[in-house]
Amino acid sequence: MKTAGFATRAVHASGPKKDTHRALRFPLYAGAAFDFESAEAMADTFSGRRAAHAYSRISNPTVEALERKMTVLETGMATVAVSSGMAAITAALLNLLTAGDNIVAASSLFGGTYSLFQNVFEPLGISTRFVPADDVRAIEGAIDYHTRVVFLETISNPCMIVPDFAAIAEIARKNNVVLMADSTVTTPYLFNAGQFGLNVVVHSTTKYVSGGATSMGGVIVDLGNFDWTRIPALKDYHRFKEMAFIARLRKEVYRETGSCLSPHNAYLQILGLETLSLRMDRICGNAQAIAEFLEAQNAVRSVLYPGLDSSPFHDLARRQFNGRYGGVLSFNLPDRAGCFSFLNALSIIRRASNLGDNKTLALHPASTIFAGFTGAELKSIGIDDTLIRISVGIEDREDLIDDIRAALKGIENV
Ligand SMILES: *Cc1c(COP(=O)(O)O)cnc(C)c1O
Repeated sequence: MKTAGFATRAVHASGPKKDTHRALRFPLYAGAAFDFESAEAMADTFSGRRAAHAYSRISNPTVEALERKMTVLETGMATVAVSSGMAAITAALLNLLTAGDNIVAASSLFGGTYSLFQNVFEPLGISTRFVPADDVRAIEGAIDYHTRVVFLETISNPCMIVPDFAAIAEIARKNNVVLMADSTVTTPYLFNAGQFGLNVVVHSTTKYVSGGATSMGGVIVDLGNFDWTRIPALKDYHRFKEMAFIARLRKEVYRETGSCLSPHNAYLQILGLETLSLRMDRICGNAQAIAEFLEAQNAVRSVLYPGLDSSPFHDLARRQFNGRYGGVLSFNLPDRAGCFSFLNALSIIRRASNLGDNKTLALHPASTIFAGFTGAELKSIGIDDTLIRISVGIEDREDLIDDIRAALKGIENV
């Protein structure tokens, strides 16, 4: 199965067990608890001598089927599925860090992640050094004896910064630091993280994986290439060798923080994974066409999209992302009033803050997802008041371009 193509694996990879009725679509096991045939079987399961499902907060057959599919698609070693992307980031990091440790992270992060690091981890004694994701030297300079993780996003939005993963992986390896990426916007279809030296990948499966924003979810994938004996927080698990990270995650952090994925959502996300490559091909093609159209418009000051020759990340993105450039793009208009007038004039494209939907969505980041940030913070992340972000969907590209053309008409003379 590992040698089959992505689409074949996405459709056929299944859980460790077949359904008893040989159903072609793995069923939705929606219940909370599972029965045991004897007290001995129950004792064996609770002591870890036997693998069986006992309670859905700990494990569930439908959730396990999603985890298995995700592991195969990432060509990883093991996956833990959780209730959201934020739950994935939280659990993965709490599993590796204790008070006194630090994270080196990109300064341009998803807002929730940035706030998690600043407002939740910092008071617990886990600090974060924010550095530009495209500055390999700054990343190296920020790592010290207490750094356990370098945390980056594969393509940061709304500024569309692409880190050089192979170069950063070399630095992380040299310093015995885990290289972890949030690959939500690239999905395993665009980015084969293990090939670029990453150790752990997290996704918000709420976005593209779910089939187009059908349900909340997240995953943590261990790519099976880190020596976990280097991580003090895993000291009680060092004897599990390559399984140490997943073992502690399953036995402690995942289980006791209670952020399990609903089996209903796992069912939808298995379905979503089967069509992921089809949707991403359409979405990336649409995004490229829209970016090129925007670049040719008078009212548009600049377009940020790694698929454009004008992007400083174009060559790097081509090498890292399977010849595709993702479904998110941003562009600058002359002023904030122009941005609002553009958004209000859209008719097919919807005003919404999500990404990875089948519908194309647009927003003004400075007044919405970054509304709580100070002017100085916005400046350091690189977000101008003139920026619009679009998450491109699977509609007909001509209709999307017509909608954008009409909405730009209103501000051409601004
Ligand atoms: C949406 C998103 C998250 C958070 O995911 P949730 O499922 O909403 O918790 C994290 N990272 C990125 C890049 C995202 O787009």
